[in-house]
Amino acid sequence: MPVTTYRTRPFSASQRLPELDEPLVLHEPEQAGELLADFIRQNPKLLILTGAGVSTDSGIPDYRDGEGAWKRKQPVQHQEFMENFEIRQRYWGRSLIGWPVMRNAVPNPSHYHIADLELRNHSSLVVTQNVDGLHQKAGTQGVSDLHGRADEVVCMTCGYRCPRDDVHERCADLNPDFGHYTADTAPDGDADLEVDFSEFRLADCLRCGGILKPDVVFFGDFVPKRRVQSAVEALKASDGLLVIGSSLMVYSGFRFCRYAKELHKPVATLNLGRTRAEELADLKLNARIGEALEASLRCL
Ligand SMILES: [Zn+2]
Repeated sequence: MPVTTYRTRPFSASQRLPELDEPLVLHEPEQAGELLADFIRQNPKLLILTGAGVSTDSGIPDYRDGEGAWKRKQPVQHQEFMENFEIRQRYWGRSLIGWPVMRNAVPNPSHYHIADLELRNHSSLVVTQNVDGLHQKAGTQGVSDLHGRADEVVCMTCGYRCPRDDVHERCADLNPDFGHYTADTAPDGDADLEVDFSEFRLADCLRCGGILKPDVVFFGDFVPKRRVQSAVEALKASDGLLVIGSSLMVYSGFRFCRYAKELHKPVATLNLGRTRAEELADLKLNARIGEALEASLRCL
């Protein structure tokens, strides 16, 4: 099966999931838990793919509503970040407020229940679209950060790497006037701050002066092929795919449902709201994630 590289191309802002003939039924946690436990008993070793819905209870906002549509303005695109100085000023300026929220976030029950699934040998690998590192903080050992990690920064010229906190401190020191702003936090260490960023001073690479970028896959960029390939290998060694907390609107996640079907492996989705995998999933659970996982663990 060829592993192709695709840009993380979201649907456009106007695009939503197709209209439903009937309203989506919300499963009660107990019911969802029992159905999920049945699925796990039949397919005991799973590749677990997680998305933003797992981290919202940790105070990290989501991009999309229950219909898969954008709740907010689209996030920064890779190309515009690389080409446009003003976009980078705005990005790092907003990050001064947004980053501490993500850095200080702690795992919620969903993260711990997923760690528990691993302890009980039901996880071959947790592949996450989240960049917050909360699965690792909850103790999960086998994690692949599909879209990278927000707590690391990389130089786009020389590859120099350093902790996000170092760049954050440098930006704060360079821009003391920006310290007094407050704003609502936004996904991926962003914040809803709309001020004049033209005086914002950027922290460049200490080694070569190049552009520093969080080591996350921005929209419009590629997920590294090796990362996808190792996740596919884990899927091949699994009995099925369990998607938790993702609407699968971004192709980098959705493709694992396609791969699972090509490999004749069953797919289950647990999400509060709909997913793009309506046609592909063998079990679709629309339920509150943490409570449903807790109920399923009780049944296993
Ligand atoms: Zn550099």
